[in-house]
Amino acid sequence: MTSDRVFVGIDLGGTEIKAAALTEHGEVLEHRSIGTRGREGRDAVMERLAGIVDWARQVSPDGLAGAGVAIPGVLDMQSGRVEMMTNLTHDWNGFLLKDALQDRTGMKTSVMNDVRAATLGEQVWGAGKPYSDFICIAIGTGIGGGLVLTNDLYMGARGAAGEIGHITVLTEGGYLCNCGNHGCLETIAAAPALTRAAREAIEAGDDLLGSLAGSIEPAPHQIVQAAQRGSETANRIFSYAGRMTGQALAGLVMTLNPQAIVVGGGVAKAGELLLEPIRREIKRRTTLLSPERGGVEVLQSPLGGEAGAIGAAAWAMRSDKGAA
Ligand SMILES: [Zn+2]
Repeated sequence: MTSDRVFVGIDLGGTEIKAAALTEHGEVLEHRSIGTRGREGRDAVMERLAGIVDWARQVSPDGLAGAGVAIPGVLDMQSGRVEMMTNLTHDWNGFLLKDALQDRTGMKTSVMNDVRAATLGEQVWGAGKPYSDFICIAIGTGIGGGLVLTNDLYMGARGAAGEIGHITVLTEGGYLCNCGNHGCLETIAAAPALTRAAREAIEAGDDLLGSLAGSIEPAPHQIVQAAQRGSETANRIFSYAGRMTGQALAGLVMTLNPQAIVVGGGVAKAGELLLEPIRREIKRRTTLLSPERGGVEVLQSPLGGEAGAIGAAAWAMRSDKGAA
């Protein structure tokens, strides 16, 4: 009997490091999650990443074959050098993460962007499996995306394809985005934007939303709770976020003609509250693509918060085979 080789996927997030030890067939042997505590600086976080690799070694009975790390930012795929990391300290920028972790652990390491990793996870073991062409959008603290076109993860000329969160959806005014532009989708539909909209409504006197959400600064899951308990404002917050997300996605649908859109990230836990307005807006703006011409499915990610770690492991497997 041949044993399955095991790879560890590590999703380095702004608040949490999530990891999954996977066999080559996608069976998750173990998973774990620890606090990033990013403010302690790069060296401290690197120690935690190395600790995860050690943990993965212990849970792999026949030895660990490789590690994949998904990062929240932009990197040079070839060298594994971080170009810009969002939500972590500045000392990460310019850091040769791949080499450093490899040197520290002795484990072959590959590195990629977190949402591209999640997209790969969906393609190999998630909602994207049946499709040759699909778009992933992850809505959380920020909004990222990934594209699978003709069965390939599309990276673009410099590996940055899929930054859906920075599509301009408000051409007049709009909030300032982290990227320096105004009116990006991220400033309207990501978690902080939903919280801001709820807070503004509560400050303007919407007592029902405040009491149903249980906070004057409600997180997305509390706004969901308020919507389920009958707050019209909470429903409106999701329908606006969904509508603007649908507007951005409609442009991609017309350009790329995908079969499906997979919605993940923490905010996707809102389910139909968010998906229904996304679907409606895409349909409204893509009249050339009638159901008879294929239309497009809008689905919730089945991998949820684990998609990044699972995809990072899939990337490590591909790198091991020399495909990446
Ligand atoms: Zn932006």
